[in-house]
Amino acid sequence: MHLGQPTPEAVGRLYDEATDLLLAAMGGNIHLGYWDDEDDDSPIGGATDRLTDLVGARLRPAPGQRVLDVGCGTGRSAARISADYGVHVTGVTVSAYQVEVARRSPPGAAGSTEFVLADAAARLPYPDGSFDAAYALESLLHIADHEAVLSQITRVLRPGGRVVVADACLRRRPDEGTLAVIAQMSAAFQFADIPTRSEYHERLAAAGMTVIEYADIGEHVRRTYFSAAETVRAAADGFDAQTAAEMAATADLLVGFGALPDIGYALITASA
Ligand code: SAH
Repeated sequence: MHLGQPTPEAVGRLYDEATDLLLAAMGGNIHLGYWDDEDDDSPIGGATDRLTDLVGARLRPAPGQRVLDVGCGTGRSAARISADYGVHVTGVTVSAYQVEVARRSPPGAAGSTEFVLADAAARLPYPDGSFDAAYALESLLHIADHEAVLSQITRVLRPGGRVVVADACLRRRPDEGTLAVIAQMSAAFQFADIPTRSEYHERLAAAGMTVIEYADIGEHVRRTYFSAAETVRAAADGFDAQTAAEMAATADLLVGFGALPDIGYALITASA
């Protein structure tokens, strides 16, 4: 479901400003955490790395292969996947600050990484067929033109290359109250789109991809919104009254959005 039309510049500005707080709220990654069940008491950083591991396990790149990370944040998943599989990961982001931080963090011994400032919905700065696999971990959410970004991904992948998309999904058409919370969250965090399962299928197919698996893991990741809200609330103490009030409102919004039963989380495996 289309929500807004944030420009890549606006998304870049959001991440230039908010990356440090988001890293603190999500334990070094900028994506949701995965917990097995209510008894799983993994800390947030372990849980967000776990989601990276679920993406890696679905890509299963062979040693030496080239992998594209579409919307790489500060590169923690790229570094982890490159080290775990001994592959070269290229990350693109629209935030100059994220490129700078990512370039400072070395990959694990077995792999290598590089980070580039680029808008994935424009032309990706790589030749056709130059990657063996690609993943988009919570970046499609910010991109209004899914057709453009998905067809760019198909273009730069070799035929048959694996693709993993991990992002929010909409489980059903929301009622007015739900829609109001989604709209507020979208405005605060520059969301462009939260697709339904059938929208994901249609868009991936239109870009020439075949879906291998679609899993809604929403109930395993939901806890992140509440724990991130706590971190934002605690961080607000160090700021002036107005900023603290804005941060408290953001924390309320995270709790309100995280509690929406209509919001799930799609973990999609496809091939180009
Ligand atoms: N995948 C990372 C970061 C997720 S945050 C992680 O899991 O930690 C969303 C990311 O998507 C940011 O890095 C943002 O810069 C990137 N992004 C959003 N729109 C983009 C676009 N049009 N092109 C490239 N990257 C984009």
